[in-house]
Amino acid sequence: MLDLHTHLWPHEPGTRLPSYDELGHWCERATAAGVQQLAVTEHSHRFDEIARVARASWTRDGSPALRAAADHVWDVEGGAHLDDYVELLTTAQRRGLPLLVGLEVDHLPGANDAVAEVLTAYPFDVLLGSVHWLGSWLFDAYDTPVFAAEWDSRSVDDVWSAYVDAVDDLARSGHVDVIAHADVIKVAGRRPADLAGFEDRLGAALARSDVAVEVSSAGWRKPINEPYPSMRLLQSLRDAGVPLTTASDAHRVEQLGYRFDELYAVLARLGIDTIATFERRSRCTFRAG
Ligand SMILES: [Zn+2]
Ligand SMILES: [Zn+2]
Repeated sequence: MLDLHTHLWPHEPGTRLPSYDELGHWCERATAAGVQQLAVTEHSHRFDEIARVARASWTRDGSPALRAAADHVWDVEGGAHLDDYVELLTTAQRRGLPLLVGLEVDHLPGANDAVAEVLTAYPFDVLLGSVHWLGSWLFDAYDTPVFAAEWDSRSVDDVWSAYVDAVDDLARSGHVDVIAHADVIKVAGRRPADLAGFEDRLGAALARSDVAVEVSSAGWRKPINEPYPSMRLLQSLRDAGVPLTTASDAHRVEQLGYRFDELYAVLARLGIDTIATFERRSRCTFRAG
């Protein structure tokens, strides 16, 4: 089993890098959970080198309160350095730890090309692409009151439509290798009346791009309480031959390989017997299970 989406830090202030021994301990925990290889894919906004270019060119809308809340996220969670992060992971990899050098890259309209340019200087194995932001709205931060309130003031159809357009953009950009939590817009439990119509649009956008899509157990930790993507969307991706990865989106060591036995049972039920992994951004296949 492969866990290609994991984080070093929870969503709290502080970006202290682990030691090599700590990373080794995490790999041991992952192995104990049945995970043979993991990718460390920290959020792009936690790194000063990315924040500098992204915040200068990111096109944002939203109320002053929403913008202030967005700035607050970047201010309190930032501070890490990409050079140190990549050096730590490549060194650990060289010493034999079963991990990939990755990053979870936010879709930020206006800033995507500039961010991609910064990233070309580093030897990443895999770049995940994520839509968390619609303008200044961090829609999956449903436990932050200012972000949660937006769900009550917008039309669910408009929100889903904007989200699908953003994923389409990101998938076609060529900047990332995997679309993370492809239908995370469902996270807070708000679904449009024509859910199937939106899923069809999302599935078509993913199928015509050259990205892999992750199957993630993280949705089981959220109000929606189901994996990403939904069973229906996953079946359509399988039918279209879209490469798939598996992910826990762990933000704590105990979440590595979270409910992977159940996740891999879902894949087996759908007849999916190969998944994708990556080496220096080149996709390869791995036997599922
Ligand atoms: Zn994410
Ligand atoms: Zn993540």
